[in-house]
Parts: sequence; C-alpha cells; structure tokens
Amino acid sequence: MKSAIQQGKGKLVIEDKPTPEPGPGQVLIKIAYCGICGSDLHYFNHDQAPSGNVLGHEWSGTIAEVGEGVDNFKKDDLVTMADIPGWLVPELPPDTPIDMAALLKMHPVAYAGGFSEYLLYYAHAVHHIPEGVSLEEAALTDTLGVGLEAVNRVQLKVGATVLIIGAGPIGLSTLMAARVAGAGRIIVTEMAEARKAAAKKFGADFVLDPKVVDVAQEVTALTGWAGADIVFESAGVQATIQQSVDMVKRSGQVVLVGVCFEPAEILPYFWFMKDVRVNVVPGADLVSSLNVMARKMVDVKPLVTHIERLEDIQETFEALLHPTDQLKVLIKP
Ligand SMILES: [Zn+2]
Repeated sequence: MKSAIQQGKGKLVIEDKPTPEPGPGQVLIKIAYCGICGSDLHYFNHDQAPSGNVLGHEWSGTIAEVGEGVDNFKKDDLVTMADIPGWLVPELPPDTPIDMAALLKMHPVAYAGGFSEYLLYYAHAVHHIPEGVSLEEAALTDTLGVGLEAVNRVQLKVGATVLIIGAGPIGLSTLMAARVAGAGRIIVTEMAEARKAAAKKFGADFVLDPKVVDVAQEVTALTGWAGADIVFESAGVQATIQQSVDMVKRSGQVVLVGVCFEPAEILPYFWFMKDVRVNVVPGADLVSSLNVMARKMVDVKPLVTHIERLEDIQETFEALLHPTDQLKVLIKP
C-alpha cells in the first residue's frame, strides 16, 4: 500500500509497503478520502514530529478486513475518522524536547495515518457512517464537528449577533453551526475573495474585508456600539486573538476556535474590564457532526473545492500554505 510519509519539515514522500493484517480487535480500512486539516499543515510546515509519521486524521473509507473478536464492523461497512488515541504516538527519541513530546501525546494527529491507501485501526475507536451521508461528506466530519463543538461551548441565544473572524473551512463550519443553533445576525471578517464569497453562500449577513474597511468600526456600527454577543476567532493568528476581545460586547463570550501556535500579544486589562468569558475548542464533536449531516441540517459538500491524488500530496500541501481559491482539499488515495 502507498502512504505519504513525512520526512522532516515540508517533505512528504510516497512509499509502498506491504498492507498490514488486522490483529485482534483491529480493522483494516480502505481509505476513500482524507481531508487536509490546518493541524496537518502545521506539522508539515514545522519540524515537530520525528520523521516517519503519516499525517491525515479526516478520513473516510470502507472496512477491508476485520480482525478476531470484532463484531461491530463487517467487510464493506462505511466508516469514518475516529477518536485519536494516544497509543498512536510511538516511542519518541530520548532527545525529543519536552514541550514537543507533550504536544504529540496530547494531540496525536501527526500519527493519524489517513494519507495512505489503507489504515489499520482499533475497531472501538472508529465510527460508522450513518445512512444518507456520503464518503465525501464523511471526510468533513471533523471540520463540521469543530464548528459544532465551538457553538456547543457557549450559550448562544436564538437571535444572537455572532462575529466570526476568518472564513476558512473552520470559520465556515462555525458559521453553519451558528446558523443551525439559531444565531440572528452573523458577521464574518475575511480577506480572501473565494472565502468571502463562500461566507455569503453559507449564510453570513455581513462580510467585512479588513483590507477595505475598519472592521472594529464597522462592527461597532452594526451592533449599536455594544459589540457582538459572541465572537468566534477562527483565523488562528496572533493579531486576531486580542481583536476578538475588542469586538465582543461587555460580558460577552469569545471562543478561540482557530489554533494559534505562536505566542500572541494580548491586553489583559481589556479582558478584565470587559468581563469576557473565553472558551477554547481543543477537539470536534464527531457524533453530533454525523447526526447533523444525516439529518440534512447543513450541506457541507460546497466546502470541498479540490480533490487531489495521493501522488500529488507534496504540491497540494505546498499550495495550501498560501491558499488562493481552496476551501477544503481532500486527498483521494
Ligand atoms: Zn482536523
């Protein structure tokens, strides 16, 4: 089976290895699609996992073989990404920096293994795809699940004014989730043309481009000087962390959905005086995501803009470091 092996910073190499046999309690999955996540790009672009790992946790596929004692799956069942267990992290070299080792153990996505033709996994950690959800949609379970988890972490009153910073896949999934949860006006800030158009398509009432307007001033005007009830920060960059507090109303709620990997400057005085409640979103609500898709409460399909071959994964990752018209990109091994 072919897999994309990470060989240090910014390098993925396709290797052909024997397809493994499932052991007791394991299933072998034939991967149909695997989405590229922001965290995959982070691991690709930073030398933070020992070489030899296979990225890719947003996969969907079919059961190819089941191991002994597996009774909840059979051959050809449709399945999707699983909870990512810590045992995926191999024995790390003794000179691994402590903070890197801790991150890998807490967040083992670097070893999820979906950019491959086959994947060996423990059956109890895999999800069935419900009827009516396609393999392509199921590859977006994590993307939508992060948006749902973001909304589930706040008290969103029906009709509330919501501001979403950044309209990449995570911002758009948060937008869909906020709509489903009953948000009133949704304001989105975004600079890229394709993402601005997508925000409109997914139901944003106002899309503000920070290159064109003073976003803080516009939000103030739109909310009658109060600020948004809830701000979802989904750009994951240094500057927008403090901005999210600047643009929320007093005693409002801020959710950090995008992952910022660099130290960010904040003004704690503002956080105190605004009496702001801040949440973070360390994971996705996968079960709710599958339920929401099966119930057709949202249509995630327009999030997929590109489907690329495993052989082209290196160029695909490089292109995503400077996205133009891409939203969600799936690899089809
Ligand atoms: Zn992900």
